[in-house]
Amino acid sequence: MKAHDGMYIGGAWRPAAGKDTVAVVNPADEQVIAHVPAGTAEDVDAAVRAARAAFPGWAATPPAERAALIGALRDVLAARKDEIAGTVTAELGSPLPMSQMVHAGVPVLVAGSYAELAATYAFEQRHGNSTVFLEPVGVVGAITPWNYPLHQIVAKVAPALAAGCTVVLKPAEDTPLTAQLFAEATEEAGLPAGVFNLVTGLGPVAGQALAEHEDVDLVSFTGSTAVGRQIGATAGGAIKRVALELGGKSANVILPSADLAKAVNVGIANVMSNSGQTCSAWTRMLVDAERYEEAVTLAAAAVAKYVPGERVGPLVNAKQQARVRGYIEKGIEEGARVVAGGPEAPLSTGYYVSPTVFADVTPEMTIAQEEIFGPVVSILKYEDEADALRIANGTVYGLAGAVWAADDAEAVAFARRMDTGQVDINGGRFNPLAPFGGYKQSGVGRELGEHGLAEYLQTKSLQF
Ligand code: NAD
Repeated sequence: MKAHDGMYIGGAWRPAAGKDTVAVVNPADEQVIAHVPAGTAEDVDAAVRAARAAFPGWAATPPAERAALIGALRDVLAARKDEIAGTVTAELGSPLPMSQMVHAGVPVLVAGSYAELAATYAFEQRHGNSTVFLEPVGVVGAITPWNYPLHQIVAKVAPALAAGCTVVLKPAEDTPLTAQLFAEATEEAGLPAGVFNLVTGLGPVAGQALAEHEDVDLVSFTGSTAVGRQIGATAGGAIKRVALELGGKSANVILPSADLAKAVNVGIANVMSNSGQTCSAWTRMLVDAERYEEAVTLAAAAVAKYVPGERVGPLVNAKQQARVRGYIEKGIEEGARVVAGGPEAPLSTGYYVSPTVFADVTPEMTIAQEEIFGPVVSILKYEDEADALRIANGTVYGLAGAVWAADDAEAVAFARRMDTGQVDINGGRFNPLAPFGGYKQSGVGRELGEHGLAEYLQTKSLQF
């Protein structure tokens, strides 16, 4: 695949400071498809300087002009969607229809939403005898994971640009080619030099240098809770703003009045999409004791449709594959019952894992507590609503979830008691304007819509 051998800094592709590279591997066939430069602290510093130099001009650009440029960026992403989808499939392994619809499609919606918000948001407000200005925070260090490679970039960069911030991005090492395409798109859209900058490379080197850089005003991180904790501590030490989108272990709560078949089928589809590599996936299915065995049978039948290599792709790399298979073994060891799939790799080539359903899972088991990040669903039994709520809220995470009931009001009443940031009611659709982010250890801050924009703004009040 085509790859740039430099960093995108100050509006141009520049040679990297060091000679090291990162290999990009296609997880479906294990072949190396490209190499990108492994950035160092020196590259990060050059990118932050470029972002700092561009900041005053971009912050002073009228919101309507910023909106027009974000709109142009959306148009470029839309025009290049086939190339984006092909690139995501090559480096992440997701089946092409998924790459087209979700990985290439959603970022167009999100960029479009911020083009509109930049044009309409009240950056100047009156409160009594005060005028309040919402001003850009400054230079943003954005660090993103591989599971939704373009969405996670756009969910940070678009609101940052709308707010008037400039950005340095360090994308995940597994999916840098999508990030390079995005950098090309910013140039094609006509963003001024230095407003967006890209440094590829390893997390503990380039990522850490960016998180620790003293001239970065806000670090926006999406990834694991372990790295998020470290980034939060560094930012805290420097009294720097930080936004963290971390892991999840979301509950799919099927109340006794719900349409069981629908709730189980949608729940299985939710986890299997992107091979289970979705932080907000509903990996714990909660069913009442009376309908428990029926749900288990339905889930096993639903998962059979997800054939590895066809409807379900591989995991992103060998390490993730080994990690997920380890969790499946742990589930068996702790006494859960495998009703579909299992730890054996379904194909001899590619980092595939068998779509797996566990029954007889109890809340304290490892597979019910830790984020697996693979195509694995655990079905838990509850006695009554209070028990369901205790199980749903009984992890360190609180990112998302679902509730199913005969009517929306019953589901809403339950959802209001869940310690989680986003809940889909009776199969509610994805909304690019809905704030996304976690309660508890799932993170700090929100992305998307107005709430996502607010992360990149600071307030100044003038009294008259
Ligand atoms: P990760 O934390 O290992 O990596 C995420 C990013 O951080 C990558 O760009 C990586 O290079 C960088 N990084 C790694 N170590 C770093 C360090 N010491 N300093 C600075 N940057 C560093 O996570 P991952 O394995 O790439 O992604 C999977 C995890 O991300 C899962 O736990 C998942 O739940 C989480 N996730 C959360 C959300 C959300 O919105 N809440 C979205 C997607 C993924």
